[in-house]
Order: sequence, then structure tokens, then C-alpha cells
Amino acid sequence: MPHASATQTSQRVYRCTFCAKAQTEVKTLVAGPGVFICDECVQLCRHVVEKKRKPTTRELPSLLPDNAPTETLLKTLAGYDGVFERVDAAMQDVVDILRERDVSWAAIGEALAVSRQAAWKRFGSPS
Ligand SMILES: [Zn+2]
Repeated sequence: MPHASATQTSQRVYRCTFCAKAQTEVKTLVAGPGVFICDECVQLCRHVVEKKRKPTTRELPSLLPDNAPTETLLKTLAGYDGVFERVDAAMQDVVDILRERDVSWAAIGEALAVSRQAAWKRFGSPS
């Protein structure tokens, strides 16, 4: 099956780690080590960074959770929902790619600071 791995790679769906939009839903998806960010989230981050460029003593405390409005905290909480599942899926994708390249379970385990056996149990065994 010479085309098997090429087909598998093209079917993989990458999602923005921040807003969970798929690569097909955004203009650009930038990859980092195990994370992705879309052009829309980059824009949002730029906006936040630019606003903070001249921090005033009044602005800063409002960014701390203790002082955030309840509405903001509820939105933040909702945003956290499913994050672990998304990170898990992203890790599985990276492990799958490494395995397609014949990288050993020992090397994968070492990268995750777990044993070869633990890495295989988590990412290698069909669930
Ligand atoms: Zn995004």
C-alpha cells in the first residue's frame, strides 16, 4: 500500500487549540509543538497584546480572575470544556505521525517522561 500514509495524513483534521475550529474553517492554522492557533485567534491575541502595551494600574487587576466579571468567568469556564480531549487528540495525532515514521515507543515514552510501556498503553493500544 504505497499511498496509505499519504491518504491518512490528508484525512487528519487539525483544530485550533484555542477556539477548536478545524483547519477547513479558518484561513490559516499555525502549528506549534502539539498546539495550533488560527488566524482569528492570532488577531484576537494581537488585539489583547496591543491593548496591554501601555498598562495602567487600573487595567491590570481587571485581568485577574478574582476581579473578572462573573459573565467573563462563565465564558472562560465554558471555553475550558473539552480542552483535555482536544489536547489528547492532538497528542494522538503527533504520536501517529511519529509511529508512521517508525519512531520507537521508547523514544515517544522518553519525550513524555513515561516508560515505553506506558506510552504504548496510552497511544498504541486500540481503545
Ligand atoms: Zn482559533
